[in-house]
Parts: sequence; C-alpha cells; structure tokens
Amino acid sequence: MKKAIALVLAMLFVLAGISALAESGKLTLATNVNFPPYEFYDDETGEPTGIDIEIAKAICDKIGYDLEVVDIDFGSIIPALVAGKYDFSAAGMTVTEERKQSVQFTDTYATGIQAVIVPADVEAADINALLEAKGGHMNIGVQESTTGDIYISDDFEAAGTAEVKRFKNGADAVLALTAGQVDCVVIDNEPAKAFVAKNEGLRLLDTAYTVEDYAMAFPKDSPVFEQFNAALGELMADGTLQAIVEKYIPAE
Ligand code: GLN
Repeated sequence: MKKAIALVLAMLFVLAGISALAESGKLTLATNVNFPPYEFYDDETGEPTGIDIEIAKAICDKIGYDLEVVDIDFGSIIPALVAGKYDFSAAGMTVTEERKQSVQFTDTYATGIQAVIVPADVEAADINALLEAKGGHMNIGVQESTTGDIYISDDFEAAGTAEVKRFKNGADAVLALTAGQVDCVVIDNEPAKAFVAKNEGLRLLDTAYTVEDYAMAFPKDSPVFEQFNAALGELMADGTLQAIVEKYIPAE
C-alpha cells in the first residue's frame, strides 16, 4: 500500500514537473559563465554566450522552449540540479562515475583534457618537472570541484607535494597565477588557451591526464531529458553542433 501511494505521489510530481515546464515554456540552464569558449560574457552585449550556450539555445529552439541562463559557481551546479532549482546544466562538464550517482548525462558532445598554465618564463616541460624545479612542493590553483581539482588533490595534495588553492572560477585562479600566489593553474585545455590568449606572460604545459567527455547534466527525474537528448543527437547528426564548435574553436 505504501508503495502504491509512493508511486502515485511520484507520478504526480512528474506530471507537476511537466506542467510547470510547459506553463513557463522555459528551461533554466545553470552554468559558470567564466569558462571560455564554452561560456563567457560577450564583450559587446554583456550577455552569456559560447559553445554550450549556443548548443543549448539551438536545442531549446528545436523543442520549443525559451532558454534562461543562470550564472553560478561550478561547484554549486550539481547540488542545485539535485535540489531541482534548475532544469539542466551545460558547463563543459566532464562525465564522471561519481557525478552519475547524482545526475544523468546527455550524450557526449565534446572532449577536453586538463592543461597546466604557467608563467611564460617557466622552463619545465610538464607538471612533474615543474614540481622538481620548485624543490618538491608547490602551490597549484584549480577551480573548486572540477576534475582538475579532483586529479590534483589525488595526485599531489594527497602525496603532500602541493597545496591546492581552490577558486570559484578559472578567471580568479588565473588572476592568482599572474599575482604570483600559485605556481600553476590546472584547468581544461580550451579555457586554458583562452586565458593564456587574454593574459600576457603565461604559457601552457600539457598533462598526460586522460581525455574527458563533456556532456550536459540533468536532474534524474527531469521530464525533458529524453526529448532534449534526442534533439542534441539530431543537431550532432545534421552538423549544427560542429558548426557552433568551429565558430569558437577554429579547426587547426
Ligand atoms: N570539465 C571540468 C569538470 O567537469 C571543468 C568544467 C568547468 O569548470 N566548467 O570538472
């Protein structure tokens, strides 16, 4: 009996979810608008733009919703989705087993690797050489709760070879690097390139970390997930997605 009541309640919640969405006609996208070229503020319009925002907009157009972008810290995104505060996230978010416990991911639409930003006069070829040059201990800047944070915490902090300074977003981490407060910043390669291009006196090292898959994240009980993911698949198949990516990341 209890189970039956729970089932009915669950169905009512799903229906209420669908009708709330249908009524508002709008999907809210939670992201951290400081992750170029995936999401950043357009210099001219002051509006959030970038690969994730454009893909999300194209999908919303296709399935008949308006899109509202909400800018929050990266580390707050998954808890907020779980709490049902927003409809989904497109945030250059890497698919991880741990995150899958909390949210469901769409198909993968991009890949990333972790890169290391250093002052341009640093001669080290990789992060381990940098650590050696620093005498076996250094300060590493990361964005809180990102895969960069997770890897560096596991590989360096746990080994006692680094103090990890966690920032709310990539721009703040890079600011700390230019101010000499950290020895390097570990962040996804495309934002890393964009930050290096915007700030003089920085350069990139590559890490050997594995390739990461980016996907959009939805609450597990999302009423629009299937429809949204199907539309994403169609935009991948018809070349729309590739055209958006190439607008921001010219083919090499
Ligand atoms: N790809 C990284 C992650 O998912 C960073 C994403 C971000 O900072 N927006 O953890």
